[in-house]
Amino acid sequence: NEFDDLHLKRDLLRGIFEKGYVKPSPIQEKAIPIALAGRDIMARAKNGTGKTASFLIPALEKTDTTKDVIQVLILVPTRELALQTSQVCKELGKYMNVQVMASTGGTSLKDDIMRLYNPVHILVATPGRVLDLAQKNVANLSNTHTMIMDEADKLLSPEFQPLVEQLIHFLPTSRQILLFSATFPVTVKSFKDTYLSKAYEINL
Ligand code: AMP
Repeated sequence: NEFDDLHLKRDLLRGIFEKGYVKPSPIQEKAIPIALAGRDIMARAKNGTGKTASFLIPALEKTDTTKDVIQVLILVPTRELALQTSQVCKELGKYMNVQVMASTGGTSLKDDIMRLYNPVHILVATPGRVLDLAQKNVANLSNTHTMIMDEADKLLSPEFQPLVEQLIHFLPTSRQILLFSATFPVTVKSFKDTYLSKAYEINL
């Protein structure tokens, strides 16, 4: 199995190869075609398996850079992870003219508002900050067809869960959700039952 077999845009494939990826890892082999087919996914995956690219590659493939709207929202629990993930996304999307923005608590809200005057296609964010931006009508999530949750067990901690649930109401009802977690505690399972539809489960 090769990246060439996944029917990706040439400019995305070029970014993948430039990162030095030659063959999809097992989670990428499973998750990428399912995500591109439009299905919700609940995947159990640890760090080091290539899970980041397993959701960034479909996110980039599904992004239409001729439309200057937020098409993909990637939720992460920490600022560190947001910066890391947006960096990898920019690298994979290097030849795509894609605009990727990281937005997290602990930084200037005003700066985020200014940055959102410019086109953003993929927003990587922590729940509190993006909810704040959505409620202020600064981040328009009405065209956000895909929501990705990385480290979902942490995103569904008592602190974050109510924010994530409020956030979902700003997305279109037909949105696709890709959920990644190292563990599946009951909070994650019940979230899946409520918000995902016919989720394809990946257990590696
Ligand atoms: P992750 O599990 O997302 O934290 O990725 C672990 C490491 O594997 C990172 O350094 C990635 O850049 C790298 N990686 C991801 N996918 C591939 C691949 N298909 N081939 C080689 N390295 C990869």
